Amino acid sequence: MREFGYERAADVEGALALLGTDPEARYLAGGTNLVDLMKTGVARPVRLVDIRELPLDRIEVTEAGGLRIGATVTNSDLAAHPEVRSRYPALAQAVLAGASGQLRTMATVGGNLLQRTRCAYFTDGAGPCNKRLPGSGCPAIEGEHRNHAVLGASGHCVATHPSDMAVALAAFDAVVSYATADGPGELPLAELYPPVGDTPQVETALPPGALITGVTLPPAPVAARSRYRKVRERASYAFAIGSAAAALDVQGGVVREVRLALGAVASRPWRARAAERALTGGPATEEACTAAADAELAAARPLPGNAYKVPLMRNLVVALLTELAEEAPR
Ligand SMILES: Cc1cc2nc3c(=O)[nH]c(=O)nc-3n(C[C@H](O)[C@H](O)[C@H](O)COP(=O)(O)OP(=O)(O)OC[C@H]3O[C@@H](n4cnc5c(N)ncnc54)[C@H](O)[C@@H]3O)c2cc1C
Ligand code: SF4
Repeated sequence: MREFGYERAADVEGALALLGTDPEARYLAGGTNLVDLMKTGVARPVRLVDIRELPLDRIEVTEAGGLRIGATVTNSDLAAHPEVRSRYPALAQAVLAGASGQLRTMATVGGNLLQRTRCAYFTDGAGPCNKRLPGSGCPAIEGEHRNHAVLGASGHCVATHPSDMAVALAAFDAVVSYATADGPGELPLAELYPPVGDTPQVETALPPGALITGVTLPPAPVAARSRYRKVRERASYAFAIGSAAAALDVQGGVVREVRLALGAVASRPWRARAAERALTGGPATEEACTAAADAELAAARPLPGNAYKVPLMRNLVVALLTELAEEAPR
């Protein structure tokens, strides 16, 4: 049993003050990831600042016509919100594809973005792991890496980011807002998770002590025709082994706009820019969708145990895009 302090914040300023500059203090949101990691000793905060009562639990339409989602909005409220379901259906589907009903009523938007990898060498709390103990090595590379990264990994870490929600947010160019003692800031989601390189322990580009206050989705008419598809080893209550969020605008058989992001393939939600470029302005045929998937996956560097992910992702992307193309208004 390890002792830790617990304090409850009533507003953003209070939360920042309670966290202070102590690098061993942590915000507590739904606790569905942090508390698990405390039980195994992977996380050892000296103080928890409970942020569940902060007034950050609203979802609002922005003046520009996008959505602003507060950091403490629960996953279940996010998935059920009518504006999310109608404007960004892939986001609602991604959230509903994650965890279980009980967990989604506790889990929050901010916590979902900052949940840690499910790599078993990381979560077991013992043994080497460059992310947990920098410089100690990465046993997954020679060991169990079936669920690990095929894109953007490094020789120092091949872990994936486990969030479903973040994949849809990446497809829609979400921007993360945060507060610090020095004032507020913003980061495009694409910049929230730095490349792995030789510092896998550095998981976000947020300043120390930053409190995520919300996520803004810019207006994206294409997102109204979007979908999330998740492949997992059982039908529910399992993390993805591959997933994709896609939106497609086809007019007269020509792709006007496409959004595509992939999940469970990299240390961050993977925006598939090469595939988007390959498809935009061309025909919305199965051949074109296949070429687009291949353009993205050309960068894949799988390990022996996760090479299956490359054809899996190819099939997933082609199926999702052709499905959306076939449903496009003629
Ligand atoms: C059995 C199980 C199955 C799961 N399956 C899935 C799945 O299929 N797909 C999926 O996407 N997820 C899945 N999850 C993960 C779940 O979605 C996350 O645990 C949850 O979203 C984390 O949110 P939370 O509010 O509970 O975060 P917490 O556990 O409270 O916090 C997580 C981290 O974020 C930090 N934090 C939280 N909020 C903020 C903030 N506003 N600002 C700064 N830092 C903050 C905390 O300090 C902590 O480091 C599963 C979890 C479990 C236990
Ligand atoms: S993949 Fe990353 S998290 Fe997993 S053991 Fe290697 S360094 Fe640790």
